[in-house]
Amino acid sequence: MGSIDDQPDLTYFISQKYTHLVIGGGTAGLVVAARLSENPDITVGVLEAGSAAFDDPRINVPGRFGETLASDYDWQFESTPQSGLNGRSLPWPRGRVLGGTSALNFMTWNRGCREDYDAWEELGAEGWGWEGLLPYFKKSETFHQPDSEHQSKHISIFDPEQHGTAGPLQTTYSVTYGASHQHWHATLHKLGIQTNISHFSGSNVGVWTSLTGVTPDKRERSYSATAYFRPSSGRKNLHLLTEAFVQEVILEEEDGQWVAKGVKFTHGGDEHIVRTEGEVVLCAGSVQSPQLLELSGIGNPEVLKDAGIDVKVDNPAVGENLQEHMMTAMIFEISPSIVTPEDLRADPKLAEAADKEYALSQSGPRTAIPSSVAYLPFSHFVPHEELKSLGNSLLSQSTPKSKPSDRILVDRLLADKNLGQIEWNFDVSNYSPQFKSLPGKKYATMLQMLQYPFSKGCIHIPPTSQKNGTKATATDKPVIDPKYYAGTGGEVDFKMMVASQAYADKICSTSPLSDIIVSRVYPPSDPTDPNYNFTDWVRNSTITDWHPIGTCAMGGKRKEDGYVLDSRLRVYGTKGLRVCDASIMPLHISAHPQATIYAIGEKGAAIIAEDWKGR
Ligand SMILES: Cc1cc2nc3c(=O)[nH]c(=O)nc-3n(C[C@H](O)[C@H](O)[C@H](O)COP(=O)(O)OP(=O)(O)OC[C@H]3O[C@@H](n4cnc5c(N)ncnc54)[C@H](O)[C@@H]3O)c2cc1C
Repeated sequence: MGSIDDQPDLTYFISQKYTHLVIGGGTAGLVVAARLSENPDITVGVLEAGSAAFDDPRINVPGRFGETLASDYDWQFESTPQSGLNGRSLPWPRGRVLGGTSALNFMTWNRGCREDYDAWEELGAEGWGWEGLLPYFKKSETFHQPDSEHQSKHISIFDPEQHGTAGPLQTTYSVTYGASHQHWHATLHKLGIQTNISHFSGSNVGVWTSLTGVTPDKRERSYSATAYFRPSSGRKNLHLLTEAFVQEVILEEEDGQWVAKGVKFTHGGDEHIVRTEGEVVLCAGSVQSPQLLELSGIGNPEVLKDAGIDVKVDNPAVGENLQEHMMTAMIFEISPSIVTPEDLRADPKLAEAADKEYALSQSGPRTAIPSSVAYLPFSHFVPHEELKSLGNSLLSQSTPKSKPSDRILVDRLLADKNLGQIEWNFDVSNYSPQFKSLPGKKYATMLQMLQYPFSKGCIHIPPTSQKNGTKATATDKPVIDPKYYAGTGGEVDFKMMVASQAYADKICSTSPLSDIIVSRVYPPSDPTDPNYNFTDWVRNSTITDWHPIGTCAMGGKRKEDGYVLDSRLRVYGTKGLRVCDASIMPLHISAHPQATIYAIGEKGAAIIAEDWKGR
């Protein structure tokens, strides 16, 4: 096979018996495929439901982030109505395109805190602590340092020791920033929050300018399709079939064990089978990896029976443990002289000029990505006594059966740890899906994101009762119930979101940032408005931050410990079946997840290759 345009056709693909079938050519999937195929003893077949979109400017041009949401590149999932959000359902975008959600995301590149990964190890994921993952964080990345002028102008401060220098994924600082960025660090300094000069070294607490997954020369999105797949696509032992929609993993019983033998998939409307002589690696993401396990007969017997699926491996942990970063978008009217992305949308001439600037000099508004970031522990603005009482109330309800992960979360509240429990990100533009801009007005957004949620939900295949009695298939959208703000832990999340919101308002009332702000408009600053109250507003305005994890969590030592995978990513109760994507994280991290998911792909591939060699 030759280039990306010269991948095998269906007939050739299904005639092969690959050593490794990778299901989902997304963020982690293409890392796994590219790394495994470095080994000539391994043959890799990738099945991706979407198609390649290497030339689409809506994907490639950084400043056009968000334009592909609700497009054909998006699976367009939706949550169930959430009682904690006053009955609202939320759109849950996921990438259906080569590169998966790395083709749709907003390119922010950062890492969690050391304790986040060490907690995974504590839960049984041996080797997945900070020290175990660090080499793989570095392996995935080539960091391009900004020059000294950029560093002083945009406070793009970094510690080169913490970054990779030879990895496929290119990371750079933006060339262009929204007008508010120049005020960001100074404003937080006034509130006693310091610039964190080494926020990739195990603590992201403080204020900093965010790195992005963008190439240094063409200033294009760097993502798994361009960084990992394209450079490897000429390999004879790596084949990709796009528009291949996997329906289930074929499991056959051998010596009392369920062994993965291949997958069933549809392509062009017909059903096909491709077989493996080795393994199937599910990389379909937090929504669809658990879906495929359940469709293959692995999961909670009640869920499977209700969905008309025969039970092969009884594991109630599949699809549970769903964790998400809840987000709010507070909107401010800003000075009318400030240029915002809405100007380009409103005025075709400005858009044309921006496109020209981007084409000629790879600069201007088409390169701007929100990069003004701060992470703080709650103890910065919530009295210690209050945190302690919330933590103790949770402890009093814990039972011997309470999950160890819950205890880690409570400990973070009680021990007053210096972790990034809440994230803020400020930029000029109206990023709220709810607040409608008024003509002639300019806006900025303060995004607020809860990093260590207690709210835990689930994702499952639908019961036959929702399908006129027919059994669930991959085409049926999974039932996504994040249980935002539900239960006692969810109430703590809610209280922390409200308290953090008040502090976000304080940040935006502090100069110099406040100097460009005219007034807060969402929630309104008028006390007679029904949405004035932060408490009501948080329920009515919380949305997804698009960071679901945990639905095929690794941990424990055996299936009965309540996890889906062991620490070598093998699905408990099976042979030759693994999962490697965002769903494997047992507990959420204080970071945008993509850098961690690339590291998961790198480490997962190393484990799989090692096991293949030693088989
Ligand atoms: C709007 C948005 C903005 C975001 N912004 C950021 C950000 O700025 N920074 C950051 O760090 N993170 C961000 N994220 C999150 C991050 O991009 C995702 O967490 C990450 O890409 C998920 O990687 P994954 O490998 O788990 O899954 P994915 O990348 O979603 O890969 C799954 C792949 O499997 C394929 N697939 C699924 N089911 C099947 C099937 N049955 N058959 C065949 N193929 C299948 C899908 O089409 C997809 O290609 C954002 C996410 C969204 C949605």
